[in-house]
Amino acid sequence: MFHVMLVPTLNCPSNCSYCWGSKEDTGIMDIGIIEEVVNWLIEYREDPIHFTFHGGEPLLAGYDFYKKALPMLREGLGEREAGFSLQSNLWLLTDELAQLLRDYGVAVSSSLDGPKDINELQRGEGYFDKTMKGYEIAQKNGLLVNFICTFTSYSKNRVDEIFDYFLEKGYNLKLHPALPSLRGNNSDPWAISPEEHGKLLIILLEKYLEHLDEIEIKDFDHFCKSYFIRKGTVCILADCLGDTLAVDFEGNIYPCYRFVEMPAYVMGNVRQKPTPEILQESKAWKTIKEYMDLVDEDCKKCRYIKMCRGGCPYNALQADKGEVKNVDPQCTAYQMIFDDISKRATKEMMSNMMPSDPGQRTGKKGIMSLMIK
Ligand code: SF4
Ligand code: SF4
Repeated sequence: MFHVMLVPTLNCPSNCSYCWGSKEDTGIMDIGIIEEVVNWLIEYREDPIHFTFHGGEPLLAGYDFYKKALPMLREGLGEREAGFSLQSNLWLLTDELAQLLRDYGVAVSSSLDGPKDINELQRGEGYFDKTMKGYEIAQKNGLLVNFICTFTSYSKNRVDEIFDYFLEKGYNLKLHPALPSLRGNNSDPWAISPEEHGKLLIILLEKYLEHLDEIEIKDFDHFCKSYFIRKGTVCILADCLGDTLAVDFEGNIYPCYRFVEMPAYVMGNVRQKPTPEILQESKAWKTIKEYMDLVDEDCKKCRYIKMCRGGCPYNALQADKGEVKNVDPQCTAYQMIFDDISKRATKEMMSNMMPSDPGQRTGKKGIMSLMIK
């Protein structure tokens, strides 16, 4: 599916210690840019579109912005299907915003790193209470929220406690490893290594499999499904070039939100209504295409190439200071989790075919249930 990330601002009222996604005093998107986005997309591609509002903090754009932007994006594109997501810390959520987002079926994700003290340490004092207040407003108004849990060099040592927290609360989550950024080094002390990332995934998969009826961890659903169908079902496991684009508050187009506000990665501007062919001529497009060619060569002997596709080009460019030299350093983590999934699938199949004790067929959900989910 075609995915367009809209970044209404990079400003954010929070100041999380390891965040590289916010920037002070940047502009805020005017509704005129959304109009330009619609005019551009009418011609650009014809398939269904998913829009994600990202930031900074996208709710800084305010109720009036979303009140106009959501119908414009849904109705302006005619018969085409348009879905929405939004990633926010929820601090600015109000009843009327929650109702509006609910009415447009916006899938909201919010960052929460586990129990309060971990959030206070990693995200700053007051973060937890403000986010929880927003979550209560969302719940009261029937707006669904999933949480994104970032694991850092600190919280990787408190995995059991963090998992139990989400399990007890009944919150679904997505995982996010703290990784270094191309835009600065404030996240570096919090970053986890690819090996630590791989170990974390294996530990959490084990826990997830014990509680499949009680919690959902989207990342494992994607890893297992991608393994099963031999094709990535999420951007980091697929060729994202061209299928994901990001638009900032000035209408500049980038390959992904992770490159926003980096002039070297601007591919065009929605005001000029660039065609795919024009974007393909940009330096940023060519850099990522060069990365895909490198993956075809460097990963060709890897048994997971079809469902990994070299991971995330941003991670690779970050590691080599903007140059295309090596594949995503998280390769180690991807190999570790795919090896684990592969072993578990084989074991599960064997025990289903030949249970040593017929009583072993408990009907309990396992890794195969995630593959066909
Ligand atoms: S650059 Fe990375 S995060 Fe961005 S769309 Fe591509 S794979 Fe996803
Ligand atoms: S697991 Fe590593 S070697 Fe295999 S496709 Fe992914 S990045 Fe390439």
